[in-house]
Amino acid sequence: MNELGLSPLWVRRDGLQAAASAAAVDRVTEQKEPAPRVESAPPADRAGQIRAMDWAQLESSASACKACVLHKARKQAVLGVGDENAEWLFVGEGPGAEEDERGEPFVGQAGKLLDNMLAAIALQRGKNVYIANIVKCRPPGNRNPEPAEAHACEPYLDRQIELIRPRLIVALGKVAAHNLLGLETTVASLRGRVHRYRGTPLIVTYHPAYLLRNLVDKAKSWEDLCFAVETMTALKQQPQAPT
Ligand code: URA
Ligand code: SF4
Repeated sequence: MNELGLSPLWVRRDGLQAAASAAAVDRVTEQKEPAPRVESAPPADRAGQIRAMDWAQLESSASACKACVLHKARKQAVLGVGDENAEWLFVGEGPGAEEDERGEPFVGQAGKLLDNMLAAIALQRGKNVYIANIVKCRPPGNRNPEPAEAHACEPYLDRQIELIRPRLIVALGKVAAHNLLGLETTVASLRGRVHRYRGTPLIVTYHPAYLLRNLVDKAKSWEDLCFAVETMTALKQQPQAPT
């Protein structure tokens, strides 16, 4: 981190959580309708079938999935990693080369930065944190996933969200934000507010790979992490929706 010039940013400051306020969740903007309850939907189509799956079924379904062209070049599908009861869900874009190789999201350079970002707010991969991506298979050459690919893969993330029931989703970067919110605006204009994805509170921040290239935005990213902690603290003061 020192070589990256990022380390001063990821030092936790005292009083951060004390700043938590319910105001964070008051600034909610609704972007999508809540999902219909899965259990009541007959599994007539592919999405319906995925939405009835447990974790093991999701893993095997994604690894055999050919619903979009990304299956052709993947070594393996990368469903996600972490605590299946996590309060925090971080969503990136799609696996890169190392993730495709190892079968785990965010294990390359951007992943190291993500781990440091988590550590800065006293979080750790796998402990109350789940990490997933918009698409489960690596886009060739690390291009952005096409809308059709993201759409084809959406039932997997939706089912993961239903199983995890996170309190807060953190969309990492433009691709995650655009696909989850259905809005094509900049990360700059989406950050600092609480949105919702199918009823779950969601905030937007920069993708760690972007931060590695644009160090000037590291301060904003730190602000977003503080805002995320404030939002989570406020959300924890509210009862969670019943199952
Ligand atoms: N970038 C992402 O968006 N996801 C990963 O899993 C790795 C890098
Ligand atoms: Fe299936 Fe998603 Fe992989 Fe496309 S990216 S093949 S929809 S698992």
